Amino acid sequence: MAEKQEPFEIGGEIIQPGTRKVVRIPTSMFPEFPAFNLTAYVIHGRFPGKRLFLSSTIHGDELNGIAAIKHVLASHHVNHLKGTLIAVPIVNLVGLLIKSRYLPDRRDLNRSFPGSETGSQASQLANLFLNEIVKKCTHGVDLHTGSDNRTNLPQVRCDFDSQEALDLALVFGAPVILKSNIRDGSLREASDSLKIPTVVFEGGEALRFNKFAIRIAKNGILRVMAHLDMIDKTKFKAIKTPSLLSPASRWIRSPNTGILHTTCDLGHKIIKGDILGRISDSLGLTHTNIVANVDGIVVGRTQLPFVFQGDAIFNVAWVPDPEKAEEILLEFQEEMEINVSSDDPTTY
Ligand SMILES: [Zn+2]
Repeated sequence: MAEKQEPFEIGGEIIQPGTRKVVRIPTSMFPEFPAFNLTAYVIHGRFPGKRLFLSSTIHGDELNGIAAIKHVLASHHVNHLKGTLIAVPIVNLVGLLIKSRYLPDRRDLNRSFPGSETGSQASQLANLFLNEIVKKCTHGVDLHTGSDNRTNLPQVRCDFDSQEALDLALVFGAPVILKSNIRDGSLREASDSLKIPTVVFEGGEALRFNKFAIRIAKNGILRVMAHLDMIDKTKFKAIKTPSLLSPASRWIRSPNTGILHTTCDLGHKIIKGDILGRISDSLGLTHTNIVANVDGIVVGRTQLPFVFQGDAIFNVAWVPDPEKAEEILLEFQEEMEINVSSDDPTTY
């Protein structure tokens, strides 16, 4: 006989085994209007197991995670869940409404953890999210996109020194796993210090949907759940193409101020000395070449046509064999059956 699942308490509600519930947790944001509550979608499995949180839109203008979580919750894989899934597709609701990365107090929620009950708006929301969601879980996935008018190739960021985090990153199956140090005040720092391993995913850009990033995030979350034995491993497709691991990345910056012309895109290989594009004056009469000063593959790039000298243009992840890495990234796209160039960024 399998072990019996106990009811689960969250936000003052009791969730019975084998049921789903939408839980609305009051915030201090606008108590008069319950719409400003923190909304969590909870699936409490019939049998005990790991408890996974999914968070998106901690930065209010980062939308891909909302779509990824929607697809996970609609997936038949989660119908016979072991353990508990707590999904919060919109953590920073006010940021979303005003199309801003930040809260109205101009603070970055992902630099405000662990937060406090008496701190700033951001600090209070961080504290609430940590106590009501993160602390009730054993593992987490936090979904992000590029910021500052930059777009990112779907990637997982983790600390290579933590084997448990690296294992989750490897099963997630994003095209690239980038080594990144933990940032002060981030959700990942707070969850790591509580020994709750958390994967941070980044893909696409702010205020747009990106089908490739959304599909990789959805499949990655389901693979993490299969790895944690929350869903049936045998019914879930394993990844054919392993992720590229990169221990470091570096921005190539604009050599001049002007209009950016480039055909170098996400996933392209970069070899030191390559001409990646040019910066021209407004009439196109003079130009300065952008010359690669590193080897690697492009994992992030600006979306802005006008740049100042010194602005970050390409984020290049170092890999031992850029040529091979570019081929692997093309295989990823084929496996996902995505034509990146025909992607519609407004619907998904
Ligand atoms: Zn973010």
